[in-house]
Amino acid sequence: MTTPSAHTHIGNTLRPVVETRALSKRYGAVYAVDGLDLAIARGEVFGLLGPNGSGKTTTIRMLCGLVAPTSGSATVADFDVGTQAEQVRQRIGYMSQRYGLYDELTVYENLRFYASVYGLLGAARTRRLEEHMQALGLSAQRAQIAGTLSGGWKQRLALACATAHNPRLLFLDEPTAGVDPAARRTFWETIYSLASNGTTILVTTHYMDEAARCHRLAFLSRGHLIAIGTPQEILAQFGADNIEDVFVMLQQRDEQTATTGA
Ligand code: ADP
Repeated sequence: MTTPSAHTHIGNTLRPVVETRALSKRYGAVYAVDGLDLAIARGEVFGLLGPNGSGKTTTIRMLCGLVAPTSGSATVADFDVGTQAEQVRQRIGYMSQRYGLYDELTVYENLRFYASVYGLLGAARTRRLEEHMQALGLSAQRAQIAGTLSGGWKQRLALACATAHNPRLLFLDEPTAGVDPAARRTFWETIYSLASNGTTILVTTHYMDEAARCHRLAFLSRGHLIAIGTPQEILAQFGADNIEDVFVMLQQRDEQTATTGA
């Protein structure tokens, strides 16, 4: 008989951080998302892939509690995205491609602003930000004006702002677009460290090297989930050498379906 490890045991007893059941969103005649069933575990780095128009943004908007599902349901950290959107929003962080930093404020002022938005105030905020700057290697830059930071440092600050309130779920939208390879590597090391401390991370990207770094991937096509698994499982399933080939294969299949009207 094999003994389950502590990690497996804990993993089995915890509910997924993200769980969707037949999640759907319709705009007029178009199903942007159609019957999506997903379960994402605590500490997973999960990639959501698919060509333009496949439903990624709509899925994320529903998981953030910004758009109500037409049918089906989803929970984030056990809160229903349709009926408990406020509780959901308190538990998520979002880092956009554009970062959303205030260029004229210092590193610390940016962090303080984002922490306040999420309700962290007073001594608790000061304590948390000191600890957080230390963890993300930003302490030495605290007084620097954000607008004068290099691309990689801006990205690090954006990540720190999105996680200042210690969210259960972090959304990353094409997180390393436009940064150099060294900064990219440091960024992913930080992401894995956040994940191993229990933050769940949902990445959307068109960059296949980013996709290959995820623990698990899901491919969407015209609102449907068409493939899910670890990068290795996806490669095996499609008999491909790299994720980019899978992506192109699925996109071509998608376009054929669209032109034949199937
Ligand atoms: P992706 O992020 O993968 O590019 P989206 O979720 O943005 O995909 O879009 C999925 C489909 O839903 C597309 O056909 C898009 O035109 C449609 N759609 C998305 N948002 C809206 C909206 N607010 N109104 C009407 N149609 C929309």
